[in-house]
Amino acid sequence: MTSDLEPRVVHPHRQVTSINTLHSLARGWGAYDAAMAIAEDLEVAAFLKGQPKKLFIGGRWVEAAGGKTFDSINPATGEVLARVAEGGAEDIDRAVAAARTSFDRGSWRDLPPAERARMLWQVGDMIEERANEFAQLESLDNGMPINDALLFFVPMAAATFRYYAGWATKLDGATQQISAPGKYLSYTLRQPVGVVGQIIPWNFPLMMAAWKIAPALACGNSVVLKPAEETPLSALLLAELLQDADVPSGVVNVVSGYGETAGARLASHPDVDKIAFTGSTEVGKLIAKASAESNLKRVSLELGGKSPNIVFADADLPLAVSGAFFGVFWNQGQVCSAGSRLFVQEKVYDQTLDELVKTVAETRLGPGIDPMTQMGPLVSKAQMDRVLGYIQVGGKEGARLVAGGKRPEGMDGGFFVQPTVFADVDGNMRIAKEEIFGPVVSAIPFSDEEDLIAKANNTIYGLAAGVWTRDVKRAHRVAHALNAGTVYVNCYHIADPVTPWGGFKQSGWGRELGPYALDLYTELKNVIVDIA
Ligand code: NDP
Repeated sequence: MTSDLEPRVVHPHRQVTSINTLHSLARGWGAYDAAMAIAEDLEVAAFLKGQPKKLFIGGRWVEAAGGKTFDSINPATGEVLARVAEGGAEDIDRAVAAARTSFDRGSWRDLPPAERARMLWQVGDMIEERANEFAQLESLDNGMPINDALLFFVPMAAATFRYYAGWATKLDGATQQISAPGKYLSYTLRQPVGVVGQIIPWNFPLMMAAWKIAPALACGNSVVLKPAEETPLSALLLAELLQDADVPSGVVNVVSGYGETAGARLASHPDVDKIAFTGSTEVGKLIAKASAESNLKRVSLELGGKSPNIVFADADLPLAVSGAFFGVFWNQGQVCSAGSRLFVQEKVYDQTLDELVKTVAETRLGPGIDPMTQMGPLVSKAQMDRVLGYIQVGGKEGARLVAGGKRPEGMDGGFFVQPTVFADVDGNMRIAKEEIFGPVVSAIPFSDEEDLIAKANNTIYGLAAGVWTRDVKRAHRVAHALNAGTVYVNCYHIADPVTPWGGFKQSGWGRELGPYALDLYTELKNVIVDIA
């Protein structure tokens, strides 16, 4: 890594797994240099000038049927960032109809797969070309540090489109002779599911949109996407790119609006064939119910977590502390896989906590758009109040507050919360059981491996886990025993479009990313031919 490509902030947690490792992954996807080349330009995105932002339905930019708009707030200042059309049930109906028409006409699914691949690859290029604009929008709308947006989330979105561009030409099936040789020939076809509704959260708005749209399009589906009300902007900019890339009208529709209205209509719509949802477990259950009570549409769910990050006494301790910090405080803790339960073996418990508290004290909070910021605000006032509420609960439950616990002084305009560490947490406390989705970690001591496995698996969730140890046998043993969709060993938050993502238990249904997402977005058809 040459010095001019270094992020301009030295993170206290930089030794590890950290954001620097993620940036180096991004370099591997080829998007890093382009992103860095324009990193110096921090002018407010031209995109914000055209307001109010409209809905994208049937290839056209339209106002909401009811004419309503809502405000998207800059969480660093509490000020209005943009006004956005508030799509409701009628707009979802229009978008589903447009998606259905495009699907039935075959305007996308019947294109030669290589042509679809070319367009998806082009979308990846276009995201990269407009990386600065996307990064600014993400940072202003969500609050995330611009370095993270520019050097990881935007390249990840581009890489996801490119990865699935590759799959468009490789959706093959299997052949078998059945019953007896020469009697019947069976072959399987992977066909698109049809009209796909996609509902995404506010924590990684652009990346979530890419994780949803790219595999759906690679498989030939048509899409209606509802971004989160807190962060609708980057999905609308992405729709502009899809239009510029000549993806046919109606194939991708973006309807910004509220979950209870637009989201609920999409989930229960009789003409939607599949819903892909990322968000809370609570709403995930509503989605499953809406499917069951409407047309039994296919459902994939990527839900909450309360992931254990486990430090054994034989770990490389500076590395583990750094991973503990990054595991829970990255993106202000608003990560479904955040290592929010920090299990530390008794022998190194005090030392690990001391080091973690020192790292927390060095962390620089500020508006995400400032390149010197290491931790930005939470996404909304509601989320800040929710997190502060949990901090109070932790205190009342008897957990020992060793760092943070408040809003930082002099930053009252934004929705900031100090990185917070609770020690001596009991597994039965609410702060150890419920997803807080903010910068709060619960440190829990353990004695040995058996004690640890029982405690770590004592949760309704099963999204991710981290294990820090120098003992390779222990690493594998513990990885096998943990009930989690992803287990990180001596690293945390490593993500790539190639590898599966999803959870055990109430963390969801199905696996996104990698070839596994193809199962979510295709129906498998078995054709049996009498050849005797
Ligand atoms: P939600 O699960 O409510 O939001 C996720 C998405 O679902 C948003 O687009 C939302 O719309 C939509 N939605 C909300 N209600 C419905 C509904 N009835 N039918 C269909 N769609 C709906 O998360 P919140 O934003 O309310 O956050 C609350 C908590 O959820 C967080 O504190 C965190 O614990 C958890 N969460 C977990 C995430 C994860 O990735 N695991 C991501 C986000 C939140 P709208 O934007 O209008 O609410």
